[in-house]
Amino acid sequence: MTTRRAATLSKSRFTYGLQCLKRLYLYCYHYDLADEVDARTQALFDTGNRVGELARQRFPGGLLVEEDHFHHQAAVTATGNLLNNPQPPPLYEAAFNFEGIRIRADILNPTGNGAFDLMEVKSTTRYDADRHLADVAIQLYVLEQSGIPVNRAYLMHLNRDYVYPGGDYDLEQLFSLTDVTEAARQFVADSVPADLARMWAALQQDAPPDIAIGAHCKKPYQCSFYGHCHQDAPENSLENPIIELYGVSENSRVFKELTAAGIREIGRIPSGFPGISSMNKRIRESVVTGQTFVGPQLAADLTALDFPVSFLDFETFMPALPLYVGTRPYQTITFQWSLHIQETDGRLSHREFLNDDAAEPRERAITSLLEAVPPAGSIVVYSGYEERMLKELAAAFPRYAQPLAALSDRLYDLCQLVRDNYYHPDFHGSFSLKSVFPALVPGDDYSDLEIQEGSAASSSYWRLIAADTPEPERAQIRQDLLEYCKKDTEATVKVLAALRALAGG
Ligand code: SF4
Repeated sequence: MTTRRAATLSKSRFTYGLQCLKRLYLYCYHYDLADEVDARTQALFDTGNRVGELARQRFPGGLLVEEDHFHHQAAVTATGNLLNNPQPPPLYEAAFNFEGIRIRADILNPTGNGAFDLMEVKSTTRYDADRHLADVAIQLYVLEQSGIPVNRAYLMHLNRDYVYPGGDYDLEQLFSLTDVTEAARQFVADSVPADLARMWAALQQDAPPDIAIGAHCKKPYQCSFYGHCHQDAPENSLENPIIELYGVSENSRVFKELTAAGIREIGRIPSGFPGISSMNKRIRESVVTGQTFVGPQLAADLTALDFPVSFLDFETFMPALPLYVGTRPYQTITFQWSLHIQETDGRLSHREFLNDDAAEPRERAITSLLEAVPPAGSIVVYSGYEERMLKELAAAFPRYAQPLAALSDRLYDLCQLVRDNYYHPDFHGSFSLKSVFPALVPGDDYSDLEIQEGSAASSSYWRLIAADTPEPERAQIRQDLLEYCKKDTEATVKVLAALRALAGG
């Protein structure tokens, strides 16, 4: 057996190794097998970078170690030179290397006598030990093994209660520091040397560790080799795997009990299997018979609709760093709506709104919507999301609270109607519009659209309002967003029509 070239470790690689030694191995030696970075993941990276840069300003007067991770040894040398200063300033991205473990500390803030506080910056709004503690612990280990005394170790994250007053951010208020010193020291004492030994041993092997897929593939984060490891998963060859049961995850009791009984397919669940919800009994029945389920209340529930019927959909985004006065980190901001209006005789008209500049979009969204919605009739939405957004808009703009509440009173949740009254085997356990629409309206779906789901719409909106986006790209994004949101309400119109036909109305 040949001995592998020894890889290096880093704080990311350490956390990958804790999740799964195979993930660590593949990351170090077979990175080409990783899943593509999608727009949503890239947006998360970009957010992390913006938050990280701002976090440094919370400790002003510091020096940035500029050498990137391709030049780690040069970064370590530069850090050493800065540390030779008897009174060093705060250090950003200080680099260290201890026995093959390379780290960059987001912020080291001097506390006197040669010691530092360590800040690990995250763009979240709270400390989560499962996700964050190992990051801090490995840095603490490397720093102290390198002879750098660490006074306190903090997770520095956004403060969800910070309300942006406009102008420059108040960085003392925007960021929160959670002291994790004791937990990180305990983690180092209890497990880091043994964890490192396991990781180095795995990295010496000629082949990846033989580790089966399981719940750990998504915990604490979805693994970047998920697609590679799951491409030959037995579930892929099943038409209706038990993971498609409604409300069931790999960690749920019913999933574990079915798996323990050797049952991997919905159609093989015995009719009296304990712990199966009434919804999942309906799904099982539909899979076994290949028949749709139509509830006896469908026609009666549809009579609750009043014409003209409006169909409403919002698009939103959640800036980590508040952009608008009075908003908080990650507050949901409505920037677009689409409205189809159907008259009693079936005639259909369409109205829409899309904000396309950097200005606060919500008040314009409200006023245009209040002007567009007919004064009477039901307002069909798909899920409870629009109701939540109407409430948030009313809270942010109290002068419109009354008319917005009046809209809320007229809402009719079509998703709930489907859940209560209908199931099609092609739903595969999902009642999302993206699953329900093509099953009820065969031959129609979102596949010809550039934007096909809400998170892609949010990412596109960032590009639409960015100052450096060229006009031709902005024009294309504008069109893509309008088409996507319009498709959502159009799909809702067609789903309702299909259900009315089924009910004989
Ligand atoms: S997908 Fe699962 S088994 Fe494969 S490397 Fe990732 S965590 Fe490990």
